[in-house]
Amino acid sequence: MASLVKAGRNTWLLLGGSNIGLIVVEGKALIVDSGLDKDSAREVAKALEELGAKAHALIITHAHADHFGGAAALKERLGVKVFAPKFEAAVVENPVFEPLWLFGGASPVKPLRGKFTLAKPCPVDGLLEEGTINFEGIEVKILPLYGHAPGQIGLAFEDSFFCADAFFPLETLSKHGIPYCTDMDLAIATLKKFEEKAWPFEFFLPGHGDILKDPAPLAEVNRKRLEEIRDKVLDLLATPCDEATLMRGLASALGLAYRDLPHYYLCRTTLYSALASLEGGGMVEAFIEGNNLLWRRI
Ligand SMILES: [Zn+2]
Repeated sequence: MASLVKAGRNTWLLLGGSNIGLIVVEGKALIVDSGLDKDSAREVAKALEELGAKAHALIITHAHADHFGGAAALKERLGVKVFAPKFEAAVVENPVFEPLWLFGGASPVKPLRGKFTLAKPCPVDGLLEEGTINFEGIEVKILPLYGHAPGQIGLAFEDSFFCADAFFPLETLSKHGIPYCTDMDLAIATLKKFEEKAWPFEFFLPGHGDILKDPAPLAEVNRKRLEEIRDKVLDLLATPCDEATLMRGLASALGLAYRDLPHYYLCRTTLYSALASLEGGGMVEAFIEGNNLLWRRI
């Protein structure tokens, strides 16, 4: 069961497996992310009833199934208009993209078609860009939080910042070991902004975990984890090796056991983001030898 927690003057967070944000002003509401499925949509409807508010719009911060899986049910139930950043909107409307890219672009196997990686599709009514946008009198600011997902955004309103999956709580970090990341350089740059307090809000409402007053220490732990992963990959490349060897080496270096296919493939994306970061920095390169694709230090 999700619990409704008040953050700022007009902001709430429905704490659950993945959090859902609410902005309520004079009976009008804006929803930030939809949760995983129709059960989360029901909980949003219940919370809005408690707050005596009617929702006009749903904003999706990024198109991961646990953040937009309930969007179609919410749209149907409450008649809200759905908004998402351009790149992420393509996935909200075509959710198969998520397991498709996890499976290297091929039609995904069954274990990647569960609801945590394959959401229900939902039509998007409007695209979001960085800057200020007014929803029925509720003016919010859209800020870039790229890295964890290619087009992830955060949403600022008054004293609160809904900051999506820019960072994870410690429990999630230790559960997954290797946090999901599509662009390691961008993810690290985003985390540094929290550490440098570039966004001076009073309340930070993340996609997972509790509301924070100061996210800098947690952002630092998240950044160091990504950097540690990248360093381990570079260490492992003391001798050229293939992707499977890197995955095994990363797991043993971090004391991690891959639980299932989704966990393995999610971690593999982060390995790729580490390799891309190292390659971009001129540190490593891929080559083919004896029909093996191998990586080596330069
Ligand atoms: Zn996410």
